Amino acid sequence: VNYYLNNIKTKAHLNAFVEVYEQSALEQAEQVDQKIKSGNSGKLAGMVIGIKDVLCYTGHEVNASSKILEGFESQFTATAVQKLLDEDAIIIGRLNCDEFGMGSSNENSVHGKVLNALDEERVPGGSSGGSAVAVQANLCTTSLGTDTGGSVRQPAAFTGLVGIKPTYSRVSRFGLIAYASSFDTIGVFSRNVKDNALVLEVIAGQDDNDSTVSRKEVPAYSQSIALDKKVKVAYLKETIASESLQPEIKAHTLEVLEQLKKEGHQVEEVDFPLLEYVLPTYYILTTAEASSNLSRFDGVKYGYRTPNAHNLESMYKMTRSEGFGEEVKRRIMLGTFVLSASYYDAYFTKAQKVRRLIKEFTEDLLNNFDYIVLPTTPSTAFKFGEHSDDPVAMYLEDLFTVQASVSGVPAISIPNGQDEKGLPIGLQILANSFKEAELYAFADYLM
Ligand code: GLN
Repeated sequence: VNYYLNNIKTKAHLNAFVEVYEQSALEQAEQVDQKIKSGNSGKLAGMVIGIKDVLCYTGHEVNASSKILEGFESQFTATAVQKLLDEDAIIIGRLNCDEFGMGSSNENSVHGKVLNALDEERVPGGSSGGSAVAVQANLCTTSLGTDTGGSVRQPAAFTGLVGIKPTYSRVSRFGLIAYASSFDTIGVFSRNVKDNALVLEVIAGQDDNDSTVSRKEVPAYSQSIALDKKVKVAYLKETIASESLQPEIKAHTLEVLEQLKKEGHQVEEVDFPLLEYVLPTYYILTTAEASSNLSRFDGVKYGYRTPNAHNLESMYKMTRSEGFGEEVKRRIMLGTFVLSASYYDAYFTKAQKVRRLIKEFTEDLLNNFDYIVLPTTPSTAFKFGEHSDDPVAMYLEDLFTVQASVSGVPAISIPNGQDEKGLPIGLQILANSFKEAELYAFADYLM
C-alpha cells in the first residue's frame, strides 16, 4: 500500500485518482496482514484495487465525475466492492472517469481530464480512463471500471492492458450509478489475464439486491486458464474492411489470425451486414435509458442544488442546467426525443428490434464458432481535443466495442503490439454468454 501511495503522489498530475483512501487503505492492510499471518486470509489478500467514481462505498463520496453529485456520500456499498472487501482486497481510492460513463476519452469529467501515462498529450480512452491509467502507471494492482459500450475495453486498448466486459447480468449492478441499465456492466482492468480472472470470479454472481443478476454458478476462472483444444474463430469482414480502421491495427489483427491458422486453429471470415446499424442502435437505446435514469437528479434528493432558484420549477431547471455537463445534456435531450410520443415507434421501438437482430446474429455466430476476433478500436490513443468538437467522431470510436454490449455477450481486450508511434493496439475477443472462462483461456493463449 505504501508503494502505491507513493506512486500516486509522484504521478498525481496524471489525474487518475480523484480521492485516495490513504487512512482506510493502511488500516485494511494492517488487518489483512494479521489475517495472512493467522492463515485465514481471503482470495484477494493484499491485492490493491482502485474503483471507478460510479461505484458506491459507504462513508466515501461518489460523484460519477459530475457536478450534480458534488458532495454526495454513498449510503451503502456496491455489491462488487463489498465482495472485494470480503476477500481481503484493499481499496485504495476512487478513480476519475467521464461524467456518468458518457464518453470515450475521459475529457468529460468535472475532475478534469486523465493523462495517458505513455504519452501525456494523448487520451487514456474512456469512460473508465482513470481506472486504466491507475493500473498502467502502477498506482494499484487492478481496478474496477464499468463498460456500457466499451468503457473498459477501449481504455484497456489505449493503455496496453487487459480489460474485460463480462456477460450482462454476470456481476451485480447494485451500488453502481446507472447510465443505461440494460447495457451497464462492471469490468476489470489488469496487466495480465490471471489477475483479471481472479478479480472477476470474486465480484461475479448472485445478489439479492439486484434481481437482474444471473444465479448461474461462477466458475473459478483463475484456475482454468489453459487452452487445451483447437478452436474455431470467426472474424467479421466488415470490421477488417472498415475505412476508419488504422492500417497498423488492421495489419496486427490479420497477423494474429494468420498465426492462429498456422497453429492449426480454424479461422473463417464471415459477413456482418449489420455493422452499420450497431452504433445508431446503441446510441438510441442508451440515450433513452440515460434520460430516464438521470431524471432522479433534480436537486432534491442528491448532491448539488442551485443557489440561484426562485421557485420549485426553477430549482429543478437550474440545478440540472448547472449540474450536468454538455455531453450529458446532449444525451438527455436525444434520449427524451427518441422516447417522445411522436417519435417513440420510429426510433426507440425500431432500435429495440434492431438490437434483437444484432443479438441473434451474434449469438448464432457464437454457437458455430468459439470466438469472434476483431480490433478493439479503429485507432490508437488520439490527442486531447481531437474529437471534442465533434460528438459523432467521438461516438465512432465505439464502432467495434458496442456489438458485445448490444448483444450482452462477454468481451475482452488484450494488448496486440504497437503502432509506429509506439502506442498500444488492442485485440478484442468475444465469446457466447457466460463463457468468460473460455475467453480468459484464449486471451492468455494469445498473450
Ligand atoms: N463511449 C461509449 C459511450 O459514451 C461507451 C461508454 C461506456 O461504456 N460507459 O456511451
